[in-house]
Amino acid sequence: MLGQMQDHPLLISTLIDFAARHHHEAQIVSRRVEGDLHRYTYADAAKRSRRVANALDRLGVAFGDRVATLAWNGYRHLELYFGITGSGRVVHTINPRLLPEQIAWIANHAEDQVVCFDMTFLPIVKGIWSHCKTVKHWVALCDADKLPADTGIANLVSYEALLAAEAETYDWPQFDERSAAALCYTSGTTGNPKGALYSHRSTMLHAFAGALPDSLGVSARDSILPVVPMFHVNAWGIPYGAAMTGAKLVFPGAALDGKSVYELMESEQVTMAAGVPTVWLGLLNHMAQHGLKFSTMKRTVIGGSACPPAMIKTFHDDFGVTVVHAWGMTEMSPLGTVNTLKQHQLALPVEQQLDIMAKQGRAVFGVEMKIVDPDGNELPWDGQHSGDLLVKGPWIISSYFKGEGGDPLVDGWFPTGDVAAIDADGFLQITDRSKDVIKSGGEWISSIDVENIAMAHPAVAMAACIAVPHPKWDERPLLVVMKKPGAQATAADILAHFEGRIAKWQIPDDVAFVDAIPLGATGKMQKNKLREQFKGHALPGA
Ligand code: ADP
Repeated sequence: MLGQMQDHPLLISTLIDFAARHHHEAQIVSRRVEGDLHRYTYADAAKRSRRVANALDRLGVAFGDRVATLAWNGYRHLELYFGITGSGRVVHTINPRLLPEQIAWIANHAEDQVVCFDMTFLPIVKGIWSHCKTVKHWVALCDADKLPADTGIANLVSYEALLAAEAETYDWPQFDERSAAALCYTSGTTGNPKGALYSHRSTMLHAFAGALPDSLGVSARDSILPVVPMFHVNAWGIPYGAAMTGAKLVFPGAALDGKSVYELMESEQVTMAAGVPTVWLGLLNHMAQHGLKFSTMKRTVIGGSACPPAMIKTFHDDFGVTVVHAWGMTEMSPLGTVNTLKQHQLALPVEQQLDIMAKQGRAVFGVEMKIVDPDGNELPWDGQHSGDLLVKGPWIISSYFKGEGGDPLVDGWFPTGDVAAIDADGFLQITDRSKDVIKSGGEWISSIDVENIAMAHPAVAMAACIAVPHPKWDERPLLVVMKKPGAQATAADILAHFEGRIAKWQIPDDVAFVDAIPLGATGKMQKNKLREQFKGHALPGA
């Protein structure tokens, strides 16, 4: 017997319609590449999203065709999110920090029909447009009079000219909720990038889950500043969750330095922000240097790589902001776990709470997870055993776009490539990416543990712990350190800081100082580059 309730497909168009009707006055504020602040409402965003849909009809873009974006976080990007998906096309967000050849490769692989780009990225487009065989239209996200006449790019139009010609009414089509909605390629540190193709259903369920109070806790009382880019895993789903709840959105555009982000947070009364750990270093430095405080900020979601406990403590002690540590990946839309305390943990001393908050958090409803040993046997949730982490759920990948790389699943589970422990309360702790694990004399050393300790040293701005080949132990840890500007510290000072904080055999054998640690296109430390650079490093006593 079937239930007797209405059967409506879960479609992304319903989000922007809901926001326009119930939160028409809620604001969307964007720092534009033009430099100024743009301000409008969900009602305006909905109208312009429908203009986008009409424009795509006029350009002859078919249902399911890919429409790409190369853009910062901003209101035009948001309109594209809803206009493209709502009308049944697929929004393909491309990471502009990739090399131009990689961008062209991805656009060709995705068979993008249209590419919409911020003017910042005009030089990239000039270099690649003739190599992108499937792209029929290039749309510059600017006013008609800002479009230079001599770009040489064929079929180039300005976004504002395109939208001006269209009506702001549009009947969103109804279709199968399992239809593709958005495409995002993994960074592909090894091999070619692979596409994760989200559906309307997966995106909607992910938005519901992301809005839950023990998850990102998005609400109509929030003013949210996503620093995490809309070109990487849909800014962790925040644009969708914000429309679902009517939260105010504050987009930083290209101005991601500490001063600009701080000023925007204060002027727009931001209550919640989200980003990878490296983006917060600039903000915290700026605030410390100028003795600044927040007046409205309550919490910041940090994920993408491990958030150092020292950063969680600084946010808590110095700025009264709760860090919500989260873990996920492109293949998971991305939410997997989010760290919020349980009722029985609320009475614990603050120091113990901060220890728990340094873990990656608890599974969001919808995500099943398990850890297994090398033979695939499930390991206990005791916070001690660590093993390969596998996940499954309705917003987790079942296969890559165009079947790239074959079937990624093992008995229906997706192997994340992360090594983790899970404690009795269900809190996940990532110890490493499997390829970053350091194997010393048959034992594993967690590079994240070592980095977290190093990051608590006052002279250290950033630290990466990597394996260096060793004749006796196979591999030993080397700590690569970027010092804070003007800070003084020797290798011995930093190694002394590990005494008593970690088992002796886990302390790095040496410290190498560098001017900068290479970061990838999504702000993560590129340890593969460091391993290459330091593979011949002579460890003391080796
Ligand atoms: P990529 O394209 O590099 O795979 P993702 O954003 O999908 O980029 O990266 C996902 C990976 O990032 C995870 O598998 C994990 O290794 C790492 N990661 C994400 N969040 C965290 C976190 N909070 N702590 C530690 N590692 C994390």
